[in-house]
Amino acid sequence: MSQPSEGNVRVVIVGAGVVGTSAAYFLSSLAKRRNVNNVQVTLVDRVGVAAAASGRAGGFLCPSWIRGDVHPVAVESFELHKQFAKEFGESTIGFRRARACSGVAPQTRRTATSALSNVEKQWYSCRSSVREIATLHDAAQVVPERLVNEIAKASGADVIIGKPTRLDKPDKDDGKPMVMDIETAAGTCIQIECTHVIISAGPWSSDVASTLGVSISACYGELCHSILLHDDVGANALDPTCLFLDWRGREDVSDLELYSRVDGMYVSGNCEGPTKDILPPEAVSSSPQIASALKDAATSVGPSLGGYKLARSTACYLPICETGTLLVGAVPNTREKIYVGTGLTCWGIMNGPAVGRALAFYVLNGSPEKPEIWKPFLPI
Ligand SMILES: Cc1cc2nc3c(=O)[nH]c(=O)nc-3n(C[C@H](O)[C@H](O)[C@H](O)COP(=O)(O)OP(=O)(O)OC[C@H]3O[C@@H](n4cnc5c(N)ncnc54)[C@H](O)[C@@H]3O)c2cc1C
Repeated sequence: MSQPSEGNVRVVIVGAGVVGTSAAYFLSSLAKRRNVNNVQVTLVDRVGVAAAASGRAGGFLCPSWIRGDVHPVAVESFELHKQFAKEFGESTIGFRRARACSGVAPQTRRTATSALSNVEKQWYSCRSSVREIATLHDAAQVVPERLVNEIAKASGADVIIGKPTRLDKPDKDDGKPMVMDIETAAGTCIQIECTHVIISAGPWSSDVASTLGVSISACYGELCHSILLHDDVGANALDPTCLFLDWRGREDVSDLELYSRVDGMYVSGNCEGPTKDILPPEAVSSSPQIASALKDAATSVGPSLGGYKLARSTACYLPICETGTLLVGAVPNTREKIYVGTGLTCWGIMNGPAVGRALAFYVLNGSPEKPEIWKPFLPI
């Protein structure tokens, strides 16, 4: 295991999603807390901050739904979300308590649709009675794009839009830094000296690792589509319910989920299954046909959504690792201080802050604060 860092710490983080920006944030806040000013952080992203899943996700947070080895990560991360809400302001990042319900949709006949009480204005109707599966006490939500941009800003890290093309590693362990070649979006090539590298490129992490001359378990992506619907009043007039549906309607829609958020009604669906063969982040998009099918399906669940406008239609990949769980820690088989944080699947917004914090501890201390929590996720 690498030792705590002495001297200047120059960290390049490849991938500015929730994991990369959280790592940058906690590197800077831990350095401040220790009163040291020798930590410099650069975020490198080939598209921009929150350009992929971290800017396009639903933002539902519910630690009690996350079981097994990842549960303690989720519990820690939920606390960090509450801290972010205090620091950045709830309305800035769209943080609010949320509930989750399940039900069968679309509705075919008029039925009593809810077992819920105290719902200010229920906007949905389902075929069988709606079951509350997470309460306002258990769950919350954020607007991921807003959150990740705030985290990046607060980290104070430099942001370079570009992609690494090579990492030059010194031949001997003589204290010389690594040098990363970066091709910027503007077409120029720059070189950055660094003592530590963090790979946080979601489903592209194993590709980035191989560009940097190291190897980690293969990463996959599962493409899912989503739309955001707006009304003129502000969707926060609707109660903060996230609906996880058993969809029995039109066949060109599947995996339908509706999240009433402060910025509108987020609707996701049509997940395509995990694949290694993923598009580069700048090429990921949805189609007008899928957007229209999702909007119609959403309207059949919440008739008032028929009057809403389509504010955004997009797609993004869930990052999946072949180990079947998170991959967090030092990249194996290299003496360089290169770390990875990926494989966050459908819970990356929930767990990203804790993963970023663990990576910051790896860089500054050589190991995370509670190593036993992170042991199951050591990269292979
Ligand atoms: C439809 C959908 C809904 C979701 N809803 C939720 C939810 O409600 N709650 C929840 O907790 N999670 C949710 N998730 C999961 C969550 O969005 C992801 O797990 C999380 O965003 C992954 O974050 P990341 O930082 O690992 O990767 P990403 O967000 O994928 O970021 C990776 C970054 O790396 C950059 N990159 C890639 N290649 C390179 C390169 N060569 N050089 C430089 N940069 C590069 C990309 O541009 C990108 O910005 C959802 C996901 C999807 C797809």
